[in-house]
Amino acid sequence: MDDWRDLDLANPTDEHAMLRQMVRDFVADEVEPQALEYDRDEKFNADLFKRLGEQGILGISVSPDYGGAGMDATAVAIINEELSYSDPGLCLAYLAHDQLLANNLAHNGSEEQKSRILPKLCSGEWIGCMAMSEPGYGTDVLGMQTTATENDDGSWTINGRKMWITNGAVDDEGTPADIVWLYARTGTDSKGRAEVTTFIVEKGMPGYSVGQKIDDKLGMRASNTAELVFDDCVVPASNVVGGPGESMIHMMRNLELERIGLAAMGLGIARRCLAAMNQYAGEREAFGRKIRDFGQIQRHIGESWAEYRAMRAYVYDTARATDLSMSGNRLDSDGVKLFGTTAAKNIADRAIQVMGGYGYVGEYTVERLWRDAKLLEIGGGTLESHQKNITRDLSDDSGPIES
Ligand SMILES: Cc1cc2nc3c(=O)[nH]c(=O)nc-3n(C[C@H](O)[C@H](O)[C@H](O)COP(=O)(O)OP(=O)(O)OC[C@H]3O[C@@H](n4cnc5c(N)ncnc54)[C@H](O)[C@@H]3O)c2cc1C
Repeated sequence: MDDWRDLDLANPTDEHAMLRQMVRDFVADEVEPQALEYDRDEKFNADLFKRLGEQGILGISVSPDYGGAGMDATAVAIINEELSYSDPGLCLAYLAHDQLLANNLAHNGSEEQKSRILPKLCSGEWIGCMAMSEPGYGTDVLGMQTTATENDDGSWTINGRKMWITNGAVDDEGTPADIVWLYARTGTDSKGRAEVTTFIVEKGMPGYSVGQKIDDKLGMRASNTAELVFDDCVVPASNVVGGPGESMIHMMRNLELERIGLAAMGLGIARRCLAAMNQYAGEREAFGRKIRDFGQIQRHIGESWAEYRAMRAYVYDTARATDLSMSGNRLDSDGVKLFGTTAAKNIADRAIQVMGGYGYVGEYTVERLWRDAKLLEIGGGTLESHQKNITRDLSDDSGPIES
């Protein structure tokens, strides 16, 4: 690039632009045709999910040494944006597997864990999830009640329940995920806080099962959500990640990517909804005029365009500045999710309004995206938790405001 002004943050290299085109083509050919049906039937399309492995995008940030693509946070944002343009539910399943599990394992796991597990995650042979939330503890994560105690032979026994786990069940028969990245309380530190340790639980380990598949969700219906039960579940010492009490490092490193990923999902929703309302406003007539000629419709389109452009810049600028191997960008990963998710919901809402009754039915897509967008304000941290984190970080260091 000769002139820095030519830089497109959303496609900063040829590799990123090719990835975007590849995913966009795949979405048009294989994702879009099934999206309405799988949302309506509240079914996870496991066959299509495995096709993502064939496309080389399960494990996009995992080193090629373990079967991944070795790409960065910008690549993650590109994929999430493109998948969510059509099917945010499928994308949420992808996010849980690719960003909450594979990326986390790739950056925090041992050599043995990585070489044994990552190739199966990258190919799609195994479907995985991350289990942090519990029935009584979500935002208050360190209150978690799932415990793990060490046995004399070095193995660990886990007891507790995890709630709201995306990919926790892979079908309607209660088949659990092949592999779970699990956080459990293993003690109390010197300051009286929960000491949390990360475990890898695999299907077939005794005491690991699905408690319930959670049905009747508002949105993200093409992804499975489940409660997982750990009842005297015995996990070998080799499945402990890092050392006891190291989960905070794993959580902090990975939450930033998760939040960028969720904001990028909002970007895909926003782009699709903006395109839909723009097209409709140019076709639909009322009172002998295109509805695009009415000032109130122009407000919906104008505000949506401005918010979409602001989201796009913030998502890709935050992704650019994020190093997947360490934490350090919490302020903006919180900020971009806070802004981008509500903007996506508002743009989807305006699309329904512009499209009137047609916007309210499934065939026209935007109602599904509106329902899906709401989850982005809750999962991976609620809006309120982002407000809290941002205020705390700026109170600790106001430097970023003036920089
Ligand atoms: C479809 C779906 C998929 C999910 N997937 C996963 C997954 O794969 N893995 C996983 O571990 N979890 C998952 N979750 C759980 C999700 O991360 C939690 O729902 C979220 O963190 C909020 O926790 P909670 O539901 O317990 O709400 P709570 O934490 O109980 O919050 C309830 C309300 O209180 C507010 N609140 C809480 N504390 C404060 C405070 N200190 N200050 C101000 N307000 C506060 C919250 O912002 C919210 O408005 C998923 C959830 C859903 C719905």
